[in-house]
Amino acid sequence: MEAFLLNFMGNKKIYDFIIVGQGIAGTVFASSLLNLNKSFVVIDSIKPREMSPSRIALGVYNPLVLKWITKVWNADHQLESLFSFCNFFENHFQTKIHFKQNIYRLLESSLDINNWNAKQSSIKLSRYLSRSLNDLNFTEKKFGQVLNSGWVDVKLMLDVFLGYIQERQIFLNKKIDYKRIIFKDDLIYYDNIICRNIVFCEGCSVYHNPFFKKAKVVPTKGEAIKIHCPNLNLRSVLHTGVLIIPLKDDIYHVGSTYDPNDTSILPTKKAIDKLTNKLSVIKKFPHKIINHLAAHRPSTEDRKPILGPSVNNKNIFIFNGLGSRGILLAPYLSEQLINHIYSNKVIESEISYKRFEL
Ligand SMILES: Cc1cc2nc3c(=O)[nH]c(=O)nc-3n(C[C@H](O)[C@H](O)[C@H](O)COP(=O)(O)OP(=O)(O)OC[C@H]3O[C@@H](n4cnc5c(N)ncnc54)[C@H](O)[C@@H]3O)c2cc1C
Repeated sequence: MEAFLLNFMGNKKIYDFIIVGQGIAGTVFASSLLNLNKSFVVIDSIKPREMSPSRIALGVYNPLVLKWITKVWNADHQLESLFSFCNFFENHFQTKIHFKQNIYRLLESSLDINNWNAKQSSIKLSRYLSRSLNDLNFTEKKFGQVLNSGWVDVKLMLDVFLGYIQERQIFLNKKIDYKRIIFKDDLIYYDNIICRNIVFCEGCSVYHNPFFKKAKVVPTKGEAIKIHCPNLNLRSVLHTGVLIIPLKDDIYHVGSTYDPNDTSILPTKKAIDKLTNKLSVIKKFPHKIINHLAAHRPSTEDRKPILGPSVNNKNIFIFNGLGSRGILLAPYLSEQLINHIYSNKVIESEISYKRFEL
């Protein structure tokens, strides 16, 4: 850990940030700092067998809530931030992580088709719903395309970023011990690291964090499978009640389930049944499940993320509550947090940690 010790003047280096957690939140935030030439150290206890939700996420971004065909909160801004984040990441690391593949939404009945057409004609939504419907060669059903949707290879993004911080010795593979964080003269000391700010991106483990005791995160179990389906030859992302993403070599990522009542970490047969039932349109193609993973998403009751400083210390921050749509939210939230820290901009009240302290 040489890099933590001395700078060329013989003084200890003062990092701008410690980031706790290298999931989507921590990685996107750290990458945004990299883009701004800010210095940081990342701490995470990564165990190969324990899966975080970020490591098993399908990485799909979708500006619509498909059940109601409505726009998600701040969709336009979120997409803009996501696209600029992906451009930066891909250029900086010379790795393709972003796949602009519109989701094809199955329209099961004539009612679904009428609803799609009606929503398409609304000015607010026309940017996101295709005007014409699509046919796919293996089914008679119609599909509408969600424009400006796609997916990010989150696992690759996390692995590439982990390699980068390991190589530069700005990564500690440890669980943070909150008791050892010392605050003195506007600086923060943690073992042999000195920094100006800490951002906690711990997902469901925020439950143990003494600085954000009031943050209410509801762990919601999610499961996803990978299937091998040699004859399907699907090139588009489908939504048939579950998402089906074509990877390579006839492998498809299929997900996900939502279960706030199951606290166990093990994958379940119940989830396999749920997921495979919703594969209706591709059911006739023989397929084999080759991978099945489960993890708990950090959801919130009001379905909004949690962002901002602690009430007692303006240099420690929470970046959490990305229960779903984490990849779409994280770049937008990173911008908000950076604008708050460096330009004193107020964090939007509906996502601010302050709402838990009222
Ligand atoms: C099956 C499934 C499919 C999903 N599909 C999608 C999708 O298609 N699109 C989408 O946008 N979202 C999807 N999600 C949701 C997405 O995964 C979450 O939004 C996202 O993972 C939340 O990221 P996070 O960084 O906040 O938390 P996490 O991924 O939980 O990361 C937290 C990190 O903090 C570390 N940590 C915790 N406590 C400590 C500590 N004390 N010290 C050190 N390190 C610590 C953990 O080890 C972990 O690496 C899916 C989730 C699941 C489960």
